Amino acid sequence: MKIAVFPGSFDPITKGHQDIIERALPLFDKIIVAIGTNSAKKYYFSLEQRTNFIELTFNNNPKIEVIAYEGLTIDFCKLVNANYILRGLRNSADYMYENNIAQMNKAMDNNIETIYMPTIPELAAINSTIVRDILINGGNVEQFVPSPIKNKLSV
Ligand code: ADP
Repeated sequence: MKIAVFPGSFDPITKGHQDIIERALPLFDKIIVAIGTNSAKKYYFSLEQRTNFIELTFNNNPKIEVIAYEGLTIDFCKLVNANYILRGLRNSADYMYENNIAQMNKAMDNNIETIYMPTIPELAAINSTIVRDILINGGNVEQFVPSPIKNKLSV
């Protein structure tokens, strides 16, 4: 069984994340959307909310699972029997950053391959940090987030 882990903060999930997951779905039997929880990091939405937003987006698709994890992504991959880490690439800055991580992960565990999916240009500017800034300042983020959650984000 081909299992991929798509790790991230998803604070909140955006149309960019949604598109990567949907386009990668035919390549794998299962995609585990892995929500990183780092105790040193402050999140805008709670783990429960972030999980709920992803579940609403994919409407209980049996090929998609949402699981929170702490620690190294490769350790989580081993725990769930995943041999692939999926990452979205928006631009060259993403590439530089992702490539270092991918190479170090590969050095730590040669059995786990990182797969990059390029963003479609229409979604390449979308970024969770900016979505949060817009929300904090009372703006409308409807066009940037998956439609099933567009009315659920105001706090
Ligand atoms: P992290 O905190 O690890 O950066 P994110 O939740 O921001 O987590 O992103 C998780 C993954 O989704 C990363 O691979 C990132 O490159 C990708 N991603 C984020 N935004 C987009 C987007 N607009 N289009 C495609 N991929 C994206």
